[in-house]
Amino acid sequence: MAAEMRALSGRADLCSINTATLGFQRPLGEVIDAVARAGFGGIAPWRREVEGQDVAGLARQIREAGLKVSGYCRSTYIPAASKAGFRDNVAANRRALDDAARLGASCFVMVVGSLPQGSKDLAGARAQVKEATAELLPHARQLGVRLALEPLHPVYAAERSCLTLLSEALDWCEEIEPAAASPALGVAIDAYHVWWDPNLARDVGRARGRIAAFHVCDWLVPTSDVLNDRGMMGDGVIDLPGLRKLVEGAGYAGLVEAEIFSAQNWWKRPIEDTLDVARQRFSTCV
Ligand code: ZN
Repeated sequence: MAAEMRALSGRADLCSINTATLGFQRPLGEVIDAVARAGFGGIAPWRREVEGQDVAGLARQIREAGLKVSGYCRSTYIPAASKAGFRDNVAANRRALDDAARLGASCFVMVVGSLPQGSKDLAGARAQVKEATAELLPHARQLGVRLALEPLHPVYAAERSCLTLLSEALDWCEEIEPAAASPALGVAIDAYHVWWDPNLARDVGRARGRIAAFHVCDWLVPTSDVLNDRGMMGDGVIDLPGLRKLVEGAGYAGLVEAEIFSAQNWWKRPIEDTLDVARQRFSTCV
């Protein structure tokens, strides 16, 4: 059954702001208030803003502001050159999952990492990520926080993510958690990372029941930096309504999250201005 795509026009309550979009210019407490004041329904904070802070207090503030937490960013990179390093990385992710639960996050975003320094063993990196994911999964399930494997654009394959294809992420889900009625292991579909994939329609369809998060921004042409020159929705070449139609057609009913790394543009603007433009673009370009 093909679901109708939701109308986002005037529905900022269906949209979430990943705090990276605002450039970490202000403390999370202020960002929470600004995002809520702008009418958004959710927020996705980063560990750098949360760890070492009063997590319960931040969770309460988010709740009282009426915001959902569409995701908690992000996992410590998993692959390591030594067994001890691997154990440390798994332990760090276990602690981060506890914070994700305290915040009421619907998922923990897994940016998985890739080659340890000096290594050329990509298959080994992938094996480590799968092992760690399988180990973290029961903890995540117990906490009620989904693990969201986020495949990144292949340009990041060396340093940030040995997981680059949505199809590969789904293969891992099925391998690690086969035939789950309500899967605790899922995927984060980020427009920036998957828009170019010729098998996107097929694989988003296959992701039914596993889509834990949906991230949007745009791919600028030309782009000056594949890490920190993401575009505001509508400013680039990604068919965002087309992608959202696929994602929602596959049953995703969660928040649509804007995640824009933009060192030279949006991060330099007052956060209220960026929130204003994001709200308009959700209405017209997503
Ligand atoms: Zn993302």
